[in-house]
Amino acid sequence: FKKIEPDTKRKDELADMGRTFNHMIDLLRENYEKQQQFVSDASHELKTPLTVIDSYAQLLKRRGRDKPEVVDEAVEAISSEAQRMKEMTNQMLALASGENRAVEKEPVRPGPVFADTARQLSVAYSRPVHVDADETAVIKGNELQLKQLAYLLIENALKYSSEDVSVSVKRGADGVTCTVTDKGIGIAEEDLPYIFDRFYRVDKARTRASGGTGLGLSIAKEITESHEGRIHVESKLEQGTTFTVLFPEEEEA
Ligand code: ADP
Repeated sequence: FKKIEPDTKRKDELADMGRTFNHMIDLLRENYEKQQQFVSDASHELKTPLTVIDSYAQLLKRRGRDKPEVVDEAVEAISSEAQRMKEMTNQMLALASGENRAVEKEPVRPGPVFADTARQLSVAYSRPVHVDADETAVIKGNELQLKQLAYLLIENALKYSSEDVSVSVKRGADGVTCTVTDKGIGIAEEDLPYIFDRFYRVDKARTRASGGTGLGLSIAKEITESHEGRIHVESKLEQGTTFTVLFPEEEEA
């Protein structure tokens, strides 16, 4: 007679499959919840400029003819809020479409990209931006996205400070490090863990006045991660902020 052994291998395999399946369901649920949160945050954020536009349009309707002085103010507010909505919808589309993740990468030099962006923003803001960029460093990436990353970090540094801004790109043992430093208002310790979250702004009133959307840093993080890099922030209130992005270095093509 042949003894029948329980097929323990098969049982283990089934248990493994069950665990994988549960893990997949958890990931799907988490993703779904994130999407729901994004949609609800997005509609909430878009409502604010719409409310401003609507109330100024009402004001124009009621008073525009007999009080010409309200016209300029209303037109200015409507136009700047419409502009902000446009920027927000563009950024939301970029985040939702995953375009930052699925783009072709080739050898690129972050030095000239950060340096050019710094020069352009320095002109746009009429403020000095000091640049110390190693032009020889090469990473695997996409130039347009790197430009957007540089733009987001340098523009924030200019927006949230009134003094000089410094930009550096350096090669090191760990890879290529790009930093953007300002001596501006800084970020409180309790806000630091959230600043890369979508729509998170430390001070909504102030950032609204400076035209913020709260999406810039989440896009910066997504671009960094799609380049296999890491983004890190150090900041002290009233003293300033440094954003550091570290990319793996690529052999010269
Ligand atoms: P925003 O469009 O509001 O600038 P971001 O996602 O780019 O959105 O930044 C999120 C928040 O992080 C900003 O609203 C601001 O409060 C804070 N922040 C970003 N960069 C800086 C900086 N260089 N100095 C101080 N605060 C900053």
